[in-house]
Amino acid sequence: MSQEDKIKQAAEIIKNSTYIVAFTGAGISVESGIPDFRSPGGLWEKYNPNEYATYSTFLTHPVKYWTMHMELREMVIDAQPNSAHNALASLEHKYGKLKSVITQNVDFLHSRAGNTKVLEIHGTTQTSRCLGCDKTFYFTEVEEMLDQGQLPPRCPRCRGLIKPNTILFGEQLPYDVLEQSREEIMAADLLIVIGSSLTVYPAAALPSIAVQIGSGLIIVNKEFTPMDTYANVAIQGMAGIIMPKILAVLDEIL
Ligand SMILES: [Zn+2]
Repeated sequence: MSQEDKIKQAAEIIKNSTYIVAFTGAGISVESGIPDFRSPGGLWEKYNPNEYATYSTFLTHPVKYWTMHMELREMVIDAQPNSAHNALASLEHKYGKLKSVITQNVDFLHSRAGNTKVLEIHGTTQTSRCLGCDKTFYFTEVEEMLDQGQLPPRCPRCRGLIKPNTILFGEQLPYDVLEQSREEIMAADLLIVIGSSLTVYPAAALPSIAVQIGSGLIIVNKEFTPMDTYANVAIQGMAGIIMPKILAVLDEIL
C-alpha cells in the first residue's frame, strides 16, 4: 500500500472513532529540536545514563544528575510544539475525538500545544520534589536556587535533596499514571501511536492492550516497530509531516 493510501486509511479510521487516545514517544519531539536521548546527538551520547541517570547515582552524586538535567531543561525551554503536537490538540479541541495523550516524553510539549489530559509515564521536567518531605516545587523555584549557587538544590523546609520529577533508571514508573493510562486505553476505540519505537518496557506494553481488546491501532513512526503487524495501519515517516496530512484528508471526508 502506498503512503498516500495509508494516510487515507488512517483518516477513515479516525473519522469512525469516537474515543481516541494517543501514545507518544521521543520521535514526536525530534522535530521540535529535542533529539531522542538514545539517538546520535542525544543526551546519552554525552552523558552515560549508567553514570548520570540512575536513581542510585542521583542519591550519591546528585550534582552529576543536576548538571545533565540543566542541559535537558535548556533544550525543553527552547522547544516549541510542532505540527504533530498541534494535530493532537486539534483532534481534541476541533474534532472532539481525542480524550487523552499518554507520553514517554518529559518535555511538556503536549500540554503546551493545548491537550488537556496528558499522562506522563516517564515524569516531567516541569516540577521537582523533595525526597525528604515530598514537597513539590515548580521548576522556576528550583531555578532560583540553582541561580543562587545551590547545587544540588535542597528543600528550604527540611534540607532534603530535591529531585526532578523525571523518572530515572532503576526508579518505578508512577503507578497511578500507568493505571490511568491502562484505563484510558481500555476505554478507547482507537489508539494512535506516534514517534515511539515501542521497545522500552514496560511502557511499550501499553499498546498491546488495544490489540487485545480489539480497538483500532494506528502507528506513525520513522522506523518499523514490533507492533506494526498488529496495527490497522502503520505509516513510516516523520510525525510532523504525516499527522497534518492525515488531518487534511479527515477534513475532506468528514
Ligand atoms: Zn523537604
